Amino acid sequence: MRTAFTARRLFTPTKEIDRPLLIVEDGRIAELSAISDKSAPVNATLVDFGDTTLAPGFFDIHMHGGAGLDLMRATPSELPRLGKFLATHGVTGYFATTVAAPMDATCTALGRLADAIEAGASSNNGDAVQARPLGIHLEGPFLSHKRRGVHPPENLVTPTVEIFDRLWQAARGQVKMLTIAPEIPGAMEVIAEAAKRKVCVSIGHSDAEMPIAKDAVKAGARHATHTFNAMRPLDHREPGIIGEVLSDDQLTADVIVDGIHVAPEVVKLFLRAKGHERAVRITDAISATGMPDGRYQLGPIEVDVKDGKCTSGGSLAGSVLTMDRAVRNVTQFSDWTLRDAVQAATLNPARAVGFSDHHGILAPGADANFTVLSPTGEVLKTIIRGRGF
Ligand SMILES: [Zn+2]
Repeated sequence: MRTAFTARRLFTPTKEIDRPLLIVEDGRIAELSAISDKSAPVNATLVDFGDTTLAPGFFDIHMHGGAGLDLMRATPSELPRLGKFLATHGVTGYFATTVAAPMDATCTALGRLADAIEAGASSNNGDAVQARPLGIHLEGPFLSHKRRGVHPPENLVTPTVEIFDRLWQAARGQVKMLTIAPEIPGAMEVIAEAAKRKVCVSIGHSDAEMPIAKDAVKAGARHATHTFNAMRPLDHREPGIIGEVLSDDQLTADVIVDGIHVAPEVVKLFLRAKGHERAVRITDAISATGMPDGRYQLGPIEVDVKDGKCTSGGSLAGSVLTMDRAVRNVTQFSDWTLRDAVQAATLNPARAVGFSDHHGILAPGADANFTVLSPTGEVLKTIIRGRGF
C-alpha cells in the first residue's frame, strides 16, 4: 500500500520543504519531494494535513518510563501502554534507560527490555500507533558517588570490563548507550570496550576535572548526559567536565529543558555552545509522566512528584517532561526556530547514537515515523511506520 502525505511544510529536519509530498510504502519512506515538483502518484491514497508541519518522530535517548510504568519493572505486555502515551507526545522511538539497582534486578530488567526491543523490531505492531524501544541506555552502575544524584550508593559499582560484559550479555547486545563517570578507577577501559562495541559512551554523573574528561574523549566517549545536572560545577578557572563538554566539538551533549533542571538562561548558553548540530534534548522522564502528583517508583527509588517536580530525599529525581513540551520550551528559552528545536529532538540524538539511517530523519529509506505539529508546535497526530492517520 502506498500513501502520499502532504501538509503546509515539512522539516527533514535539516531542511524545510514547502507543500511536501511524502510517499510511504510498507512503513518506509519511498520518496520525498515538494508537491509542485510532482503530482501524487495515481496508485497512492493522498492524506492532506492542511496548515500543519510534518517533522520526524522525536527520539528520546534518556527515558525511564511514563503513564505509570517504570521501565525497570514493566513487562513486555505493559509496554504498549507507554508506547501509546509517548506517541501522543510525538515520540516514535526511545532508549529504555536503567537506574543503578542490585545487579540481579538489573540483569532481569535488561533481559525483559531486550525481549521488547527484539519483538518491536520483528513485528509491525499491528495497527497500534506506539513508540518503540530502540535500545537500552545504561545509566549506571558506573557513576560517581559524589555526583550520583538519586542513584542508590549501595548499587554503584566500580567499572570493569567483566561487569560491563555481564550487563551486555544480559541485554543480548541491546545496550546502545552508557553513562559513565570517567574519573572512577577502571572507567577508561570500560569506555574503550563499550566504544569498540559501538555503544554511545556518554560522560555524566561525574566529578571529573577537565583533563580526565579529555582522556575519556580520547578513550572513545562521544556524548555527555544531562549536562550540568549531576556534574562537577563549571568554574571559570577550573572548568571541569562541563568545560570540556561545552568546548569540545567532538562531543554531542544532552540537556533537560523543563525549566527546573537547568535555568532557561543556562539552556540558552548550552545551545549556543553546542550549536544546532550537537545539542540533544532528553526528558529523563519517570513513570509519573502523564500522571497526577503523588509517589512513584524509579527502579528501586521512591520519588515524590509535586507541581511537576520530582524529588527523592531533597534531590531532583528525573522529570515529568515530555518531548513536545521540551521542543516548545527551547523556542521560548532561546532564539532557536521550531525547526532547530525539532532537530535537537530528532536527527541530533539519532546521530549521537548512530541511528540516523532510519530514525530522526525524513528521507527515502528511513522509517515513516513522523509527527504532525500545529504552527505553535503542539502534537496533533503521530504516524508510525505509515500508520495512524
Ligand atoms: Zn535518568
